[in-house]
Amino acid sequence: MGDLEGRVALVTGASRGIGRAIALRLAQQGAAVAVNYRSDANAAQETVVAIQGADGHAVLTPGDVSIAGEAGSVVTQAVETLGGLHIVVNNAGISVDALVMRIRDEDWDRTLDTNLKGAFLVTKAAMRPLLRQRFGRIITISSVVGLTGNAGQAAYAAAKAGLVGFTRSVAREVSGRGITANVVAPGYIGTDMTGRLSEGMRAQMLAQVPLGRVGTPEDVAGVVAFLAGPDASYITGQVLVVDGGMVMA
Ligand code: NDP
Repeated sequence: MGDLEGRVALVTGASRGIGRAIALRLAQQGAAVAVNYRSDANAAQETVVAIQGADGHAVLTPGDVSIAGEAGSVVTQAVETLGGLHIVVNNAGISVDALVMRIRDEDWDRTLDTNLKGAFLVTKAAMRPLLRQRFGRIITISSVVGLTGNAGQAAYAAAKAGLVGFTRSVAREVSGRGITANVVAPGYIGTDMTGRLSEGMRAQMLAQVPLGRVGTPEDVAGVVAFLAGPDASYITGQVLVVDGGMVMA
């Protein structure tokens, strides 16, 4: 029996990449998982099939987390179809890269709305069930870029840094009710998001990784599963960096 048996988890942006690996890992450890996505229903269904193939339980909970009504409905669908909610993983994210002087206002808004406001809207909607049962694990995926900044990624870095302040505020608000809130900050992970970068850019990033390899979605998923599990019950308001040593502080 896995250590997440009896728990219900919602993973936003679980149709591919890091979110899919997190959903699969939580399910392998026994959680029933709500697989959220925005547009790619086929890919999200593949996540569900992978979970079922591992004898896990999953349902699709579509919705754009950057829109209040949809984020609320994603949480409601999870609670109603799976009978509760214990673990919330704010993973959905996009990056629209440009130098500050060239960032279009609408791209700034889109980046902040998805990465930062999306996590706020989902967390807000999930708060009532978590508070009522006096247990919850909120795990939010930021990025090392939110800690260090990155030329060409000001909007993304601002959103990811914002998630740290947001999470620490949430952690302080709900710690008396058995709820923890933590951030996982990945470095360079091999997914569609980084696959879109030029080869030169990827080589430059890899050169900054002391462990000498690109991270996998599973590297991140294992840390999220740890934070969701019983061994992390005394950890809250923290940022766990999963980056092969890229950023050491
Ligand atoms: P991908 O681009 O591979 O996947 C992004 C996922 O987010 C997809 O499932 C996508 O769904 C979903 N999504 C995007 N916008 C929304 C939205 N508005 N509402 C609901 N779902 C949405 O990204 P990664 O797996 O690489 O990244 C996952 C997270 O990890 C992101 O927050 C990212 O910023 C962060 N991260 C990634 C790093 C990396 O190196 N890859 C490094 C550091 C952090 P759909 O396909 O349906 O649109």
